[in-house]
Amino acid sequence: KKKTSKTHKSSAITSANHAPQQLTPETGAALFEDARSRLETVFKALEIHPDAQARLMQPSLSLQVSVPVRMDDGSLKAFPAWRVQYDTSLGPAKGGVRFHPDVNQHEVTTLSFWMAVKCAVVGLPYGGGKGGVQVDAKALSSLERERLARGYIRAIADIMGPDRDIPAPDVNTDATVMGWMIDEYEQIRRAQAPAAITGKPLSLGGSPGRVEATGRGALTVLDLWAEREERTPEETTLAVQGFGNAAFHFARLASQRGYKVVAVSDSSGAIYHADGLDIDAAKEDKQQHGKLSKSQQGKAMSGDELLGLEVDVLVLAALENQLHRDNVDEVKAGAVLEIANGPLTSEADTALEKRNIPVLPDVLANTGGVIVSYFEWLQNRAGEKWHESEVNQRLDDRLGDEAKRVLLRAEKEQVTYRQAAYRQGIERIAEAIMARGNCQ
Ligand code: GLU
Repeated sequence: KKKTSKTHKSSAITSANHAPQQLTPETGAALFEDARSRLETVFKALEIHPDAQARLMQPSLSLQVSVPVRMDDGSLKAFPAWRVQYDTSLGPAKGGVRFHPDVNQHEVTTLSFWMAVKCAVVGLPYGGGKGGVQVDAKALSSLERERLARGYIRAIADIMGPDRDIPAPDVNTDATVMGWMIDEYEQIRRAQAPAAITGKPLSLGGSPGRVEATGRGALTVLDLWAEREERTPEETTLAVQGFGNAAFHFARLASQRGYKVVAVSDSSGAIYHADGLDIDAAKEDKQQHGKLSKSQQGKAMSGDELLGLEVDVLVLAALENQLHRDNVDEVKAGAVLEIANGPLTSEADTALEKRNIPVLPDVLANTGGVIVSYFEWLQNRAGEKWHESEVNQRLDDRLGDEAKRVLLRAEKEQVTYRQAAYRQGIERIAEAIMARGNCQ
């Protein structure tokens, strides 16, 4: 009898010894508890009003649906799917839609919570939302994926819209999927409504710079940190876990800036080159062979080995729960940059803090994507099209300002970067909750 389940195999980096914690319904619930537990210290430090605390402890709206899809062979499959709006005090819910076999309600709830925090950290007029479909999207044909995307929008159309909840890409969804989704939404509404979804193809009102935005934003945060540490990109080595959209663009832009990206990985394994990898060549190899581990750009190694590399910065850009109690002690990096959402459990977080390894947290470092989503939404509402250079400049300015504020706060209040970012975000959400009054 095989021990590995189907969902196990599909997860990011796995090995017999140090598999990431899997998102079964039980560990999924633990994920949300873990995420919520980070709130308590923030509540205490900021003396958040009990009314606001009560509102922040659970999602404000959670919708579970089943999405029926006619498969190419004529059979019908029904995929469980969710859309969760965590908090909408600051504005409409905002967040991506994920297609992944491990998706479950707790995971989507947790991700929507993180969206609420991160939108507030960088001052966007948005609440937090997230969607997910439990599906192995890579096993679907393009037409099946399109039917699934359209079916998902039909199922959640009543609770979305430019002023209610605005989906976007996430793990295994991209501009093509957003194109199908916005078309379905506009057919339902019988009106043009480009601001209802972001991350769209350029021809449907997508923003220049959106595809690279998450990677670009993470690089801005890394640059700021490096500057404060008085280190140059050239003397800084990076190992990047992940090779999806955010990871690839980050690795490419970081090596262009002069950082030495010595390792990257996907679910098939990692490649390593001490002098720095050619990221574009690695991408071509992955496109050609389907697997990064087949690339000849560097020496093959396992995903776990990558996590234990002696580098200046370990960049986690795959999925949640990658560093946990059982493998965090193997980290030999000088710092950790989180581009994925929630790649550290709170236990791993505490362990790194004890070892004085700074963590640039997800709710700051991966906000580039949602910031440019906001710019896309603004352009759609105004009927404008900005030049890519303008989008990038605005991204650099906004994230630069907010990130500086977080780094300074950490120093002043003698707390971790994560704690400082949470304080900045939760403070803003709590203020909006209280300003709305309490007699509903
Ligand atoms: N999925 C991305 C995230 O986790 C982007 C969300 C958005 O653009 O709304 O931040």
